[in-house]
Amino acid sequence: MECIVCESKKLKVLNLKNKYYFCKNCELIFIDRENIIAADEEKERYLGHDNTHQNEGYVRMFEEFIEVVIDPHLENKGRVLEFGCGPGPVLADLLAEKGFRVDKYDPYFYPELEFEEEKYDLITSTEVFEHFSDPCKEIDLLNNLLKVGGYLAVMTSFHPGPEEFSDWWYSWDPTHIVFYNLKTFQKLIEDYNFEIIFCDQEKYILFKKTA
Ligand SMILES: [Zn+2]
Repeated sequence: MECIVCESKKLKVLNLKNKYYFCKNCELIFIDRENIIAADEEKERYLGHDNTHQNEGYVRMFEEFIEVVIDPHLENKGRVLEFGCGPGPVLADLLAEKGFRVDKYDPYFYPELEFEEEKYDLITSTEVFEHFSDPCKEIDLLNNLLKVGGYLAVMTSFHPGPEEFSDWWYSWDPTHIVFYNLKTFQKLIEDYNFEIIFCDQEKYILFKKTA
């Protein structure tokens, strides 16, 4: 068994309701393959969320993301890809209102996009990275989709460490299968020309593709 981000074999097993591994090298926490939720069950759970403009808390979450991560760091409004937008694309709509030209992609709800033809100035991915079964494959795809000078803006809750993991509400959602902190993200982008522009060490991280 090795870490799915850095391939280290220095793993600590966390035997909770599900089995997880904590990587002592990159600090990723990831679920055992056997405990990964089935795709149809995963989709069913997403449909159970109230991801609409009528849900004030949900809309506010994205407004804050734009205020803290996007607005202070991005000057130009260009082409944006909302990667993993889910069934109710609230963030895509908010970005379009701000003047971005927005494409939506979600493997379950907006799977039509022809990636090969597009390059983006900004990719947003909120509450998505914690669902990746193969983070390295996804970061490779996102890197290929970005223009040089483009930004990748991510929201996913950073884990509190292996000791506190079982008491952490974010780990209880069965569709959340992989958890990061700043060190994990530094490892994840090691082979790419990404620079970390901003990170709040809690849930936001912004990368710039520099070459
Ligand atoms: Zn690792």
